[in-house]
Amino acid sequence: MAEEELGLKAELVEEGEEELVSIHFSDYLKNASSIRHKPWKLHNQDLRDGYVHLRKGKFARLLQEALRQRIEEELPLEVNEAILEQLSDEIESVVEGVERLRETIQKESYGEFSLDYMPPCMLDLLTKTQQGVNVPHMGRFALTAFLSHVGLDADDILQLFRASSDFKESIASYQVHHILGDISGTRYTPPSCSTMQTYGICLKDKSCERVGSPRYYYFRKQRRAERQSGRQAPPPETEAETEAETEEGEKEVAEDA
Ligand code: SF4
Repeated sequence: MAEEELGLKAELVEEGEEELVSIHFSDYLKNASSIRHKPWKLHNQDLRDGYVHLRKGKFARLLQEALRQRIEEELPLEVNEAILEQLSDEIESVVEGVERLRETIQKESYGEFSLDYMPPCMLDLLTKTQQGVNVPHMGRFALTAFLSHVGLDADDILQLFRASSDFKESIASYQVHHILGDISGTRYTPPSCSTMQTYGICLKDKSCERVGSPRYYYFRKQRRAERQSGRQAPPPETEAETEAETEEGEKEVAEDA
C-alpha cells in the first residue's frame, strides 16, 4: 500500500532485537518536510548510505503525512449539481458553522478593543467623527477599515459613529457594511502610514517610530500592554514589522533588566 498508493518505498531491516523501517532519504524529505518539529529534521535521523532508518511508530506518522498530502493533492473533487442539491442543507449548516467559528476566533484573537492603543491619526479621525466635524472620504474609509481590522464588527463601529450629531443611520450603515465586505464580498484593508501621509491625515508623533501602518501601531501597543497576561494579538503584518517588534521587545527587556 505504501509503495503503490503513496509512492513511498520502504523495507524492514533487522537491527539487533528491533525491526526498523528503511526508506530513501528523498522519500523521507518529501513526506517529513511539512512536519515542523526539530526531531524530524533530516540531520537528526539515523541516515546510512542514503537511507533513513525509522522506528515503526515514527514510520506510521510519516505514512499519515504521506496520506494527508495525497488526499490534499486530489482536492477539490469534482461534485456535480445533483450531489450539491442533495447535500444543500448540510453544506449550509457547515458554512454557517465555519462563519460563526471564524467570527468567534477573530474576536477572541483580537483581544479587548481599547482606545488606549489607537494611533494619533485614528484617534483624531474618531474624535472628529464623533464631534460631527467634517472628515474627508479617505479619513472615513481609513477609520472604518482600521476599526474592523482591530476586532470591531459593523454594529460596534456604528455604535461609535452614532455619537456624531450628523449621524445618518442608513448612509453610515451602507458605508460600513460596504467597507467590511458584507455587500461587495471584498473586505477592505486599512491604509498604510505612507498612504495616510499622502492623503494628509497622518499625525505622526514620537510614538509612531518604526510603525508601517496604524493597525501595526495598535497591535504593537496592545502586545506591550498584554505581554504579561499571556493573551495573543494578531502577529505583525510584514517581515519588517516583525523585525521592528523583535528589536522593540529586546529593548524593553533590556530596559526592564
Ligand atoms: S505614522 Fe502611521 S500610525 Fe502614526 S499617525 Fe501617521 S499614519 Fe498614523
